[in-house]
Amino acid sequence: MQPGEKRSANALLRLLPSVDEMLQTRAAADGLGRRQITSLVRLAINDIRGLAATLDPKTSREEIRDLIDAALAAYIDSARRSALTQVVNATGVIIHTNLGRAPLSAEASAAMRGAARYCSLEYDIQAGTRGLRSPFVEHLICDLTGAEASLVVNNCAAAAFLVLKALADRSEVIVSRGQLIEIGGDFRIPDILAQSGAIMCEVGTTNRTTLGDFEEAISDSSSLILRVHPSNFRVIGFTAQPSLVELSTLARSRGLILYENIGGGSLIDLEPLGISDEPRVQDSLTAGVDIITFSGDKLLGGPQCGIIAGRSDVIARLRKHPLMRALRVDKTIAAALEATLIPYTNEREMSEVPVLKMLLMSYAEIKERAEKLVERFDKRSPVRLAIIDGMSVVGGGAAPGAELRTSLISVTHRQYTSSEIETKLRTFDTPVIARIDDDRVLLDLRTVAVEDEAILTAALNSI
Ligand SMILES: *Cc1c(COP(=O)(O)O)cnc(C)c1O
Repeated sequence: MQPGEKRSANALLRLLPSVDEMLQTRAAADGLGRRQITSLVRLAINDIRGLAATLDPKTSREEIRDLIDAALAAYIDSARRSALTQVVNATGVIIHTNLGRAPLSAEASAAMRGAARYCSLEYDIQAGTRGLRSPFVEHLICDLTGAEASLVVNNCAAAAFLVLKALADRSEVIVSRGQLIEIGGDFRIPDILAQSGAIMCEVGTTNRTTLGDFEEAISDSSSLILRVHPSNFRVIGFTAQPSLVELSTLARSRGLILYENIGGGSLIDLEPLGISDEPRVQDSLTAGVDIITFSGDKLLGGPQCGIIAGRSDVIARLRKHPLMRALRVDKTIAAALEATLIPYTNEREMSEVPVLKMLLMSYAEIKERAEKLVERFDKRSPVRLAIIDGMSVVGGGAAPGAELRTSLISVTHRQYTSSEIETKLRTFDTPVIARIDDDRVLLDLRTVAVEDEAILTAALNSI
């Protein structure tokens, strides 16, 4: 660098505003706290300081401020985007693990808001004294599943851990080799068994396990037979597993507990929708399972929680375990679960639970919504919309093979590529998450609430 240039870079540095000066114009930036804005202002000023040597020496004070302002706006934008925010799920994956699994009903959201303040979490309003924690939600679970007793914890992983720790610590748990599975997110059945202190006793083979395999494995140190629903994959061909009734008869005759981790947690028969591998919770209990665990935010369609249901003497042991205190759910979750379960008590209202509504939505209904949206869309727009047939999926590691017939909106643009269109939708004010298939951007209205269609149209118009 020439000495002259160095002098002008130094001269430019003297024109840099202070953090305080910048803050005066940006004090109340869009939903971020003052401390965060201050550190972003510092970053933006530093960026421009680093550029000083490359700037035209005649750059004015105002132009330097504008440069800092632009850098700051980009920092603020990216800080806001990393915050938890509402998105429109147009992927057609109903229980989308990355997008918060089950969306809650309006009633469940309202119940959460109500409970967020003071609420009757452990208070008996009739008696005016301390009461049990969420007895009504436990009562609802029993009512709907036929269980004698129930308990709610943080998620299904916590439920499985509590069951194994409380009932099988330092004793043998008998499990089929075909069910030593990984659920995803590093949750593996052998690991959870090891963490709980249980001694894993594997029987049978990957594809076939018989009742005899279980029978032979039972010893004086066995406490529990574990059955895991292989939620996220399918074994087809030469396979065998004893039925729950057979396992239950065996467990009873040998004084063992039969525990099923069913995962998905459907309370309705999904067979008519072509979903054949998601058994109902109540069917397992009827078959003689002593204790069952499932997720609240998969097929049940509620908030993130794990539900444990079954024999009252077994539930009582879990309730008394010291881990229970560490795993219990928050008041807002208890409220949302309660509000999700209430519609299940009434056949007609049940389909208002968003997950069920999306599962049950017919091809014809989705097609009609898609056609209306395309018809209303501005014909002069460079965005081209077309309707094609396709499939929605259940997601959430449930019903792996099942696909639901749907009608998709395919989006193309006069000048942008599919991946550019997808990015523009994703970075809209309310992000719209689409899928790209065969180099086409596809939108599935099955997972878009009717009230969110306006956001979708606005996002398309913004491309
Ligand atoms: C999904 C699932 C889990 C984990 O449930 P979370 O609620 O995510 O903790 C555990 N077991 C089975 C069989 C599952 O399908």
